[in-house]
Amino acid sequence: MVQGLLTTSVGSFPKPAYLLEARNRFAKGAISAEELNQLEKQATREWITFQEEIGVDILVDGEMYRGDMATYFAERLDGFSISGLVRSYGNRYYRKPVAVGDIRWREPISVEMFKYAQSLTDKPVKGMLTGPYTMMDWSFNEHYANREALAMALAEAIHQEAVELENAGAKYIQIDEPAVSTRPEELEIAIKAMAVVTNGLRAHTLTHICYGDFEKIYPRMLDIPVDQIDLEMANSHYDLLDTFRKAKFTKAIGLGVVDVHSHVMESVDEVADGIRRTLEVIPASQIYVDPDCGLKTRTVEEAKDKMRVVVEATKRVKAELN
Ligand SMILES: [Zn+2]
Repeated sequence: MVQGLLTTSVGSFPKPAYLLEARNRFAKGAISAEELNQLEKQATREWITFQEEIGVDILVDGEMYRGDMATYFAERLDGFSISGLVRSYGNRYYRKPVAVGDIRWREPISVEMFKYAQSLTDKPVKGMLTGPYTMMDWSFNEHYANREALAMALAEAIHQEAVELENAGAKYIQIDEPAVSTRPEELEIAIKAMAVVTNGLRAHTLTHICYGDFEKIYPRMLDIPVDQIDLEMANSHYDLLDTFRKAKFTKAIGLGVVDVHSHVMESVDEVADGIRRTLEVIPASQIYVDPDCGLKTRTVEEAKDKMRVVVEATKRVKAELN
């Protein structure tokens, strides 16, 4: 039996219509936090059931309780206030965290939902955190002397949350750093901050980095102190494989094999081919197969179809190797 080629997903799944509606009603004060929480759990349960049915190996809770991935954590840490609506890429609006005091971990943030999701399945569920570099990059800083100081304060707080997740039984802890590829000159800050987050953890640690200027951060990027780096390979037609031929990819890789920005459904053939091409460069034992990024921008049906393709293609390649 071939070792490796475990399937997973990056983190977010689309919220079902009833939950989107409930979030709006909650924002208007029409339903209670407890009512919203019950529906978030219902949606989480549905996604866990789906992942089990199609045979995913490492599950996620789907992030049914999150709006923005930085703001969600900032709202629950000391030292942040939240801005009014700010425009980000395209026409997406969100509330941006503002560091106004010393950033401190106060109480568990993600642990309750992790425990709930893990209680529904015997498969491992990933603990999901937003990394200190990205939290810093997506916040306004009105308190710390510079960007590095804010990132390092965040790293201490996120480390505490990671320890709580590990104590709650998380075997995999993902610390997302989508922003790392956007400012190559700050890679050293991201590395230093991640060292604080993962210090002493026994869980398998990984980070997701969105597609960007890898020419400038590779291979130094491999020094980010995690066991696995999860990358978007499909939307760039696996062009990073050429980079990995020149300088070996030394960690486990989360191999993104379906484009999350496109309605177009990849075929099992083309995804299997992408996995085979990767096997020429990285051994199966080091490869985890997943979509490029979070699937929350797709419809529920598209997200499910993309996950099915990920699992089917991986099964096919595994069968060939066996
Ligand atoms: Zn991404």
